Amino acid sequence: MASTSVRYDSQNIFAKILKKEIPAKTIYENEYVLAFHDVAPKAPIHALVIPKNPYTSYADFSQRAAPEEIVAFTKAVAHVANLLGLDKDGYRIISNIGRNSGQEVFHFHFHILGGKKLPFA
Ligand code: 5GP
Repeated sequence: MASTSVRYDSQNIFAKILKKEIPAKTIYENEYVLAFHDVAPKAPIHALVIPKNPYTSYADFSQRAAPEEIVAFTKAVAHVANLLGLDKDGYRIISNIGRNSGQEVFHFHFHILGGKKLPFA
């Protein structure tokens, strides 16, 4: 099955965070997105930004999300980085898509990584 056609599983961990069934350290929330700290940070600052609607990956989101949702998500990512004080020294955004990328949670998310000079890749 192509990474773009993975079926959304409403029991995935981020769906449970959205339903408040499991806790997360919220950084920012609005009508369209939720941002929270990664439970196993790979950098001094490691945040995740997710849409509230169910998309499996960036590929799915880019095809199915409404324009206002895409705009809101894009702006929220930079806003969250600014809230975390990352705009001064810079940061990295990553989104894993499908099996070859190592995607583990099939609810679309951007990783925001920063707080030190990051190694390439
Ligand atoms: P992926 O590999 O899908 O791109 O990234 C999934 C991310 O979700 C990983 O960085 C992992 O540490 C994070 N993660 C997994 N389970 C939880 C959880 O229960 N809470 C939080 N805050 N992050 C999680």
